Amino acid sequence: MTGLPDHSPSPLIAAQDLRMTYRVGRGQVLRALDGVSLSVRPGEVLGLVGESGCGKSTLGRCLLRLVQPSAGRVVFDGTDITTLPERRLRPLRQDMQMVFQDSYAALNPRRRIGDLVAEPLRVHPAPGGGRRSRADIAARLAELMDLVGLPQQALARYPHEFSGGQRQRINIARALALSPRLVVADEPVAALDVSIQAQIVNLFMDLRDQLGLTYIFVAHDLAVVRQISTRVAVMYLGAIVELGEADAVLHRPAHPYTAALIAAVPEPVVRTGDLPPPLRGDVPSPIAPPPGCRFHTRCPVVRDRCRVDPPALRTLPDGREAACHYPLVGE
Ligand code: ADP
Ligand code: MG
Repeated sequence: MTGLPDHSPSPLIAAQDLRMTYRVGRGQVLRALDGVSLSVRPGEVLGLVGESGCGKSTLGRCLLRLVQPSAGRVVFDGTDITTLPERRLRPLRQDMQMVFQDSYAALNPRRRIGDLVAEPLRVHPAPGGGRRSRADIAARLAELMDLVGLPQQALARYPHEFSGGQRQRINIARALALSPRLVVADEPVAALDVSIQAQIVNLFMDLRDQLGLTYIFVAHDLAVVRQISTRVAVMYLGAIVELGEADAVLHRPAHPYTAALIAAVPEPVVRTGDLPPPLRGDVPSPIAPPPGCRFHTRCPVVRDRCRVDPPALRTLPDGREAACHYPLVGE
């Protein structure tokens, strides 16, 4: 991790009690997000971890208003965007971009890279209003190829001519075309070979330093999260169960779920002394989450109170937040 987060009081993006429910047949309701609050300051990298199905992608999409949350608020740079009509959201969309896991999905296979990366530049007006000239677009494309470490010749080629890692560079170039301030990266390296993963993570870090970007970086690989994050949020069944400085959360986890995720790594990123046994079983269904603490059915240190009394996310003495009656550190 390089650089320091900006400790100015105003977050770039904040969520308050965000909820997302889906109706899933026979009148059942699935709570993909069950009251998520967080804020990210300019220059921070918030790592978002948790097993598959915990709501990470849903949170990313709600924050960028790619889907409309069922309840709660999203505030971007001081503007409440929760219910902002698309017309008024559009200028703000330039400031918030997403990079996905599947490097192919966003790239039309029949179009050249130059076309694909230029698309946002053609769709959105130039900063002073009006359309960008061909020369302006060409100059910006050249700049973007340099930024993501691809040769200029790449612009004339097609998506299938590139490796997965190179295609992620193309997706990153496209996401950066309009000089966004916030990038939500949803498992952007999960589908890549390990050696390539490191290159792409390094690219994300360089770009953040160079351009002053703010990231929300979703990953299930804790080594990747540790490398890139300034803060870490741990999600379980649609809720944040631990949130704090990356060092504290990953070296001295307070929530038994965080500790279990760390213990599940074959070669733990960090040795933290006594770790609980790895997690057993699957995440319960978000259609019928357990009563009390949502993690109690899998918690190795569960006590009676946990089965009936849901713990609120509260601030521990060291400043991190955890939703546990019996946190592993710092009471
Ligand atoms: P993650 O990214 O952590 O794997 P997701 O945000 O994709 O989790 O999903 C959270 C939960 O919401 C899962 O149980 C998933 O099946 C459910 N879900 C996500 N999108 C939809 C949808 N459009 N309709 C119904 N259920 C959904
Ligand atoms: Mg996901």
